[in-house]
Amino acid sequence: MEQKKGCPLCKNAEGHVVHQKKQEGLAWVQCEECSLVYKTAGKDSLSTDAGYYQTGQMRETMPYRYGDSTSVTPEIAFEEKNEIQWERFLKVKKYINRDSSVMEIGCGSGGFLHTVNPYVQDCIGVELDKELVEFSRSRLNLDVRDTLLSDIDFSGKKFDLICMFHVLEHFDDPKSFLRQVKKHLKPGGRLVIEVPNFNDTLLQVFGLKKYQEIYFTIHHELYFSRKSLAKLLEDCGFQCSFSPFNEYGIANHLNWVQNDRPVPGASRQSGRCFQVSSYNKNEKNSEFVGEFNQWVRQVNDDYKELLASHGFFDTLFCIAQQS
Ligand SMILES: [Zn+2]
Repeated sequence: MEQKKGCPLCKNAEGHVVHQKKQEGLAWVQCEECSLVYKTAGKDSLSTDAGYYQTGQMRETMPYRYGDSTSVTPEIAFEEKNEIQWERFLKVKKYINRDSSVMEIGCGSGGFLHTVNPYVQDCIGVELDKELVEFSRSRLNLDVRDTLLSDIDFSGKKFDLICMFHVLEHFDDPKSFLRQVKKHLKPGGRLVIEVPNFNDTLLQVFGLKKYQEIYFTIHHELYFSRKSLAKLLEDCGFQCSFSPFNEYGIANHLNWVQNDRPVPGASRQSGRCFQVSSYNKNEKNSEFVGEFNQWVRQVNDDYKELLASHGFFDTLFCIAQQS
């Protein structure tokens, strides 16, 4: 288990184990110096193992994680993130215009590119999962490349915006990957990164064992804090600004605390909260349901504000520019 290889960000050898999966022979260590969490033991890195992603193995681990019993089909993956894609678009839209070129690395079922496509000159997606690639090509008419970034010939084409949503944590050598990505950015272009935050409420505050088991997953080589992600970007020649956020709300958290699992359909529900409709639609019921739903939304907003005021976020969102 003690196969220490040092921190991939600052090379410091000192770290403490934050999680182990003994059966799979996996362990994650947090660097004492820069706070990056990295996988130290177990199978070789999956980050350059295209086959693991091409065959959809990563999606197989997702149903339980997101509270669903059915497998995550490309359609489900596309539909469940609709609102999140729109929120992402709103965060980046001031950096793009009709003449912009956008690339998304790890574009999944194409939801973000589908959202941004009408507002820019062109979009290119990079995705290994063959089923997802097929979906975004045939159903969304997107230009998606199905190989590793290093194998794509862009013929010198560069991008105004390169996005990676929940991708960077899959790489065991994030510096060399980011330097590779940087070569595809136009001068003044923006790099958008979203990763799970290690300072996650369910993990760090409530300390739920079952959540830990799901949070730490074989295909995540790294877990970032704001500090370690900022250091990585600065080391690679970027200056960055953060807008961390909480994707999941109070219904999901309460379900975890009470039942040790996410609220069913958590990923579709995502940041919003459940809403009810009345069974017997008379005027009195409708009035109550309207007020109830409004109250639930308010409680959810208040809860997220409370989390944020204490620095707890499930997601780090960062926009970086070459410095
Ligand atoms: Zn370190």
